[in-house]
Amino acid sequence: MTLLKSWVTSANTADHPFPLNNLPYGVFSTGEDDPRCGVAIGDMILDMAQAEATGLITLGETAYFDVPFWNEVMEDGPALWSALRKRLTAIFAEGSADQAAAEALLVARADAELYMPFLVAEYTDFYAGRQHAENMGAILRGGPELPANWLHIPIGYNGRASSVVVSGTPVRRPLGQMKAPDAEMPSFGPCKRLDIELELGAVVGTGCDVGSNITTEQADDMIFGYVLLNDWSARDIQAWEYQPLGPFQGKAFGTSISPWIVTKEALEPFRTSVPPRDHKLLPYLTESKPGLYDIELEVLMQPEGSETTTALTKTNYSRMYYSAAQQLTHHAVGGCGMTPGDLLGSGTISGPTKTEYGSLMEMGWAGKEPFTLDSGEQRSWLEDGDTMTLRGNARGKGYTIGFGDCVGQILPALKDQFNS
Ligand code: MN
Repeated sequence: MTLLKSWVTSANTADHPFPLNNLPYGVFSTGEDDPRCGVAIGDMILDMAQAEATGLITLGETAYFDVPFWNEVMEDGPALWSALRKRLTAIFAEGSADQAAAEALLVARADAELYMPFLVAEYTDFYAGRQHAENMGAILRGGPELPANWLHIPIGYNGRASSVVVSGTPVRRPLGQMKAPDAEMPSFGPCKRLDIELELGAVVGTGCDVGSNITTEQADDMIFGYVLLNDWSARDIQAWEYQPLGPFQGKAFGTSISPWIVTKEALEPFRTSVPPRDHKLLPYLTESKPGLYDIELEVLMQPEGSETTTALTKTNYSRMYYSAAQQLTHHAVGGCGMTPGDLLGSGTISGPTKTEYGSLMEMGWAGKEPFTLDSGEQRSWLEDGDTMTLRGNARGKGYTIGFGDCVGQILPALKDQFNS
């Protein structure tokens, strides 16, 4: 695969995140207009509501783009996804007969406000990064030994769909109960150990019934696409609450996603295998095709009032131990129904060295080794006003499949009305 040329000339460069090869799906508005579905191409967005209303795009009898979310397309399955992508690819190809009709329906991305691209049905977060799990073991339990189940099960917990927000939405520092190791009693107050988790989110397109089970092949077919995901984490709240049932309030106050769903089809050339297995996985988790993707990931940090942005981390999604299809299979195989719009967080993505860690907990070794930003400031945890950006790009021959930044700024905690 090489760069596919488009008459939208801004899309025709090797490093533009949204070439014709990508065509990611979002929801946008300009000025006073209502939010509606859009497809990014180069510096422009195609208005899908107008494209359908004018007959440029018809997907059978049903109207898909009279709503400001992609769920109706998602739930109709892979044949429809392919047909839509094929049509969009033809519309935007160099020399297309549809150029004039489509050109009239483009808006500049710079003028657009972006919204949640889909309605999140439920949100599940996994723990599938081996380096991250080993680092957390070393920090919390004094050694990098993985939990006994880790090499056999994609460990996860059920999170909150209600607090998933689109990039650009500020995230408020949570209040909660915590207990310092040397304190006699717990206390309530603003989180002091606020953190990020660099993750990829898999967007489930089609569901499966309660009481059914699915193979990894079926699970892969159910995945519509991927977004960047920041699983904001309150480490002090989490540390006190997480045993024995896992994270709860320490993870429930915010999860940010990037605004464009990058389709599985766009990522197809970047498929790559999971790393070698220490133990053979049980048959229900085996995959017949590579389940991960070669996606370069970055974490950037900018303190409030500072002109300087620091690149903290560069790593790659291909470092994960379990693929999204394996996670979805494990999720559903015991009879748990899955719903169109379910969101699966990959787990924190960390590589083997300090400049590849996907959380501040690892970068600053739980506050023991503060790190210095390019602006000269030190950090162990997030401070109010800090802006965190996740970035993702898959690099092809002469083209890039970009995700669009996943950005969030920390707001100060609400006044604690219980301690005056
Ligand atoms: Mn997480």
